[in-house]
Amino acid sequence: MIPTISADSIAGYFFVFWIGLAIFFYLLIWCDRDAAFKRKWLPRSFIFQGALFAAFVIFQMTHDPKREASPSTLVFFTLVVAVITYLNIKIHKVCGHCGATNRSRSLAPGKFCAKCGSPLDTSKS
Ligand SMILES: [Zn+2]
Repeated sequence: MIPTISADSIAGYFFVFWIGLAIFFYLLIWCDRDAAFKRKWLPRSFIFQGALFAAFVIFQMTHDPKREASPSTLVFFTLVVAVITYLNIKIHKVCGHCGATNRSRSLAPGKFCAKCGSPLDTSKS
């Protein structure tokens, strides 16, 4: 007999995995001072985490009768996650001078590094 995976049984595992993944990316990217490495992997980590979150929620919405959602709800949710991922990539900038990761408090990317004060290249991550 093949065991079935219910939406409720996978939720706990997902959140443990997702929190572990966030800690892994934090240690890998935020603690490293190599700007080129961060510029390459920081946007990818946001995309991966957004896609993973969207996949989990869509799985919950399509496999749990209590949380059944219409196709338009799934499309809307996917678009919201995509926009949030895009904004996360846009507001996080890596300082080319000291390697610090800067997160703007507004939707516009910061112009100067919060750690060393060097100008941030807004054309790069
Ligand atoms: Zn800096």
